[in-house]
Amino acid sequence: MPPGFDHSYASLGSDFCTPQPPDPVVAPELMLWNQMLADELGWKGSPSSHPEQLQALAGNQPLPSSKPVATVYAGHQFGHYNPQLGDGRATLLGEWLTPSGDRFDVQLKGAGPTAYSRGGDGRSPIGPVIREYVVSEAMHALGVPSSRALAAVSTGEPVVRDRIERGAILTRVASSHLRVGTVQYFAMTRGGDEVGTLVDYAVSRHFSHVTEQDVAPAKPAAVILLDGVCTHFARLVSHWQVLGFVHGVLNTDNALLCGQTIDYGPCAFMDHFDPQACFSSIDRQGRYAWPNQPSTMHWNLAVLAECLLPLIDNDEKRAQQTAQEVVDQFPIRFHAHHQKWLAAKLGLDRITEVDGALIQDFHDIMAAERLDMTLAFRWLTEIAGDTLEHSPLPELFRAPPLLIDWSRKWRDRRASNRGDANAITQTMRATNPTVIPRNHLVQRAINLAENSDLDWIEELVARGQSPFEWRSGDEEWARSPLEEERVTRTFCGT
Ligand code: AMP
Ligand code: MG
Repeated sequence: MPPGFDHSYASLGSDFCTPQPPDPVVAPELMLWNQMLADELGWKGSPSSHPEQLQALAGNQPLPSSKPVATVYAGHQFGHYNPQLGDGRATLLGEWLTPSGDRFDVQLKGAGPTAYSRGGDGRSPIGPVIREYVVSEAMHALGVPSSRALAAVSTGEPVVRDRIERGAILTRVASSHLRVGTVQYFAMTRGGDEVGTLVDYAVSRHFSHVTEQDVAPAKPAAVILLDGVCTHFARLVSHWQVLGFVHGVLNTDNALLCGQTIDYGPCAFMDHFDPQACFSSIDRQGRYAWPNQPSTMHWNLAVLAECLLPLIDNDEKRAQQTAQEVVDQFPIRFHAHHQKWLAAKLGLDRITEVDGALIQDFHDIMAAERLDMTLAFRWLTEIAGDTLEHSPLPELFRAPPLLIDWSRKWRDRRASNRGDANAITQTMRATNPTVIPRNHLVQRAINLAENSDLDWIEELVARGQSPFEWRSGDEEWARSPLEEERVTRTFCGT
């Protein structure tokens, strides 16, 4: 059995969360269990060998030392401020301490109504649970900071949405669930009450290394937080961009201070490169389309900055100036990360000013020819390593004449690379995935799960664990969707 939970966040007091035992369900069954994550967490046993764990992950009985709470937050949703949101369909069981001393929130998502459900049922259909499980684990394997999935359990109860669906509960693990929206709740809704407590807590939980290294003059905790979040957001969104990942609902309540991706509702990866890619059915204006993600995260950071002003300096002008300086770092840090990713993915030693046109041409060709983004980058990788013929790529991707022409210029440019050519090619292999959780694969997983057919989903999850290698059977996992498989719209399905 697990050694136990800590509750540092809940101990901040009743302003921050409300005790919330999960609502029992009639007939829980284990769908998916993440043994690898369990091992990382030092979680002993599993729901299949310990029936009481299955009951606990379904919300039917408490885990030893868990003290379930629902946390409160606010947030800008599609630009409009909602003064009170909160865990409407999630309960935080507590903070899991790993044997090496790391701390992770463990949440049951879909565990029944809470004080923050606002009329919702607090439940989740199987579809969103499977999507989040598959995509968040694949993101982690791709090296993208992300919440994780420990278990998916079906509840045996129906959930009414557009149609009647089967219910499920996801056990979600994250560094923490502190959001920009959590700070907003205290700064904006509560007029500043307790925002200092929250900021000190967030800094000690996520940025204590900065405090320790920091030399005089000591920076206020609020500046450490803002600066740390700025770095996290810049790195995170640059990674999303180069993978063609579209989050879909980048509201401030879905922006974690710890810099992990969270909320996999309407997310999707591009298949063919589309510079305006937007999949979410509720994002009618394309507010959170692929090209807008960096500016959106910049905006989310500015919202955080505004909340922190009173804690930065008593003098309003000075506070604004300090905050602005940090917020202005975002595009600089984003650009630096993005350039680094592009250099790695294109096998360039660095990106110089003249490379801008070469990269733009590559993107233009991908867009004009509707090339599969993942496979196009991987095609370059196999060419660079002289491994094309030994890979399944020729069966999966045909390079059009425009791309072949472009690749000559690219080879010329690579000829002027400084440094170890093998290492550069190795980096290409480690940054250009062969397999991503494509929408049609995720959709198939959801359809199968609805019919309790889990074997293929386990294979999909397992395949996602080594996204930079070729494996036998990759003709199926790595290919672009057929026309009839193409998923162009995604639904939160909450
Ligand atoms: P999301 O769009 O998933 O980020 O959720 C936005 C807000 O709606 C959060 O406060 C959620 O807790 C809440 N919410 C979403 N789905 C449900 C549901 N089925 N029941 C209750 N609250 C929900
Ligand atoms: Mg959310």
